Amino acid sequence: MPVLSLLQAQFPDAMPVGTYLDRVATALDPYDFRPDSTFAAVSICRDELTQQLIELVAQRWHRPFALGGLGGLPSLGRTGWRACLSHVPDTTDRGRLLVFGMPHVGMDTSGAVGQSARRNQEHPTSTCGAIVSLLDLVRRGEADSLPPGLDDHEAQRLLRFVQDETGSMPMEVIELTRRTAHAVEEEIWAELDALEAFRDMDVAVFCGVQIHVPERSDHIWSTGASVKGADGVRHRLEV
Ligand SMILES: [Zn+2]
Repeated sequence: MPVLSLLQAQFPDAMPVGTYLDRVATALDPYDFRPDSTFAAVSICRDELTQQLIELVAQRWHRPFALGGLGGLPSLGRTGWRACLSHVPDTTDRGRLLVFGMPHVGMDTSGAVGQSARRNQEHPTSTCGAIVSLLDLVRRGEADSLPPGLDDHEAQRLLRFVQDETGSMPMEVIELTRRTAHAVEEEIWAELDALEAFRDMDVAVFCGVQIHVPERSDHIWSTGASVKGADGVRHRLEV
């Protein structure tokens, strides 16, 4: 089956990343997010496969601030968020902050989701490696154990964010990635609201899942978009 048919079967709402960014710009048009007044920030996984998004965002809104750690979860802490907010243009009455939060997932040529063929490697490897590793840890009952002497704080924090109140999480890669995207969105807004960013700037947050499609552009499955202006009310956006 052609690779795009395999993609559509698993992710019917996914679109090429260029199309997605065009739609983001269209959704923000009424809010006047022009490139010269807008500062972009991107929370994506450390995996090299994710980095195309940085380049495409930079082409539209200048080079973005890097927020992300493993799984696309913001990992910069309060100090990092303060630094990010302090870089927003202040030459207009209110600056504009545009945040993207995107975990990712790979697909191989057979349509198997959760792995990617990488450059000069014979066998596909997990994508997202962090999310697949969490699934493995929980399946083996080892989620709470850390190898002595090793620091694994980003993976441990990611696990906490995708668990519900009872400590359980989806045990399937697509559903767990979707849960991660919602956790990323909640964490971005929690930090922005704690710092009351909307008092000085309009803030827009776009979240979704980056999908790496073999020999095709990355695709985005949008999972949430909203904007908050001077009234302090979060308005949902359609992408
Ligand atoms: Zn990853």
